[in-house]
Amino acid sequence: MAFYIYENWQAGPRRTMIHTGSCGYCKNGEGKDGEYDPNHAKWHGPFKLISEAYLFVAAIKDSTENKECSRCIKVITNTFNGSHDKYGKFLLDKVVGNDFKSKGKTVKVNYNAGSPARIDGTIKNLIAVEVESRTSKQVRGAVLDLILHKYPKKLLVLLPVHMNNPMITAKQCEFAFSKFVDDSNYMVIILKGDGSNPMINEDLLILEKAIKKLSNEC
Ligand SMILES: [Zn+2]
Repeated sequence: MAFYIYENWQAGPRRTMIHTGSCGYCKNGEGKDGEYDPNHAKWHGPFKLISEAYLFVAAIKDSTENKECSRCIKVITNTFNGSHDKYGKFLLDKVVGNDFKSKGKTVKVNYNAGSPARIDGTIKNLIAVEVESRTSKQVRGAVLDLILHKYPKKLLVLLPVHMNNPMITAKQCEFAFSKFVDDSNYMVIILKGDGSNPMINEDLLILEKAIKKLSNEC
């Protein structure tokens, strides 16, 4: 995904707006037909990350107002509808595509009585994944499900929504993993965004790095 900035100084103060390249108002920095006067406006970009676009905006002198396009950027945000679960699964799907499974046999954890527990997903036949936004006590329960899941690698993704201190929760989970799983076989990561406040670009990078490391691809 690419991001562009529309800078406009037609009337009054200098204003900027961030768009995605595919937005109808942006058209990869060409703008909507007939609505773009180069004497009073300019497109900047592409930027690979939305964070890079924000940095660029911050460096524009006299820029007094920055907005995100309500048509393209908000659409991404609304997709999750505040669901942290949807957000986590969206990110996983973007990073590993069809290799991510969130349904079926592979997500089951056998506790040898009653119906099996379920984790949030698996990657290839290798990594068991839980995406957690709940309280520390509940997150530690997710660690047990991951430990007991048959796949050798364990990935715990934390969205710091209901945790008082996500860093401490992460450390507790790492400690628990270290008692049962080899160091190279588990990872606990903390994302920056969540379903109500997505930070897609930042979180995709964090997730991608973790999955590569767990798969021994770097
Ligand atoms: Zn737009």
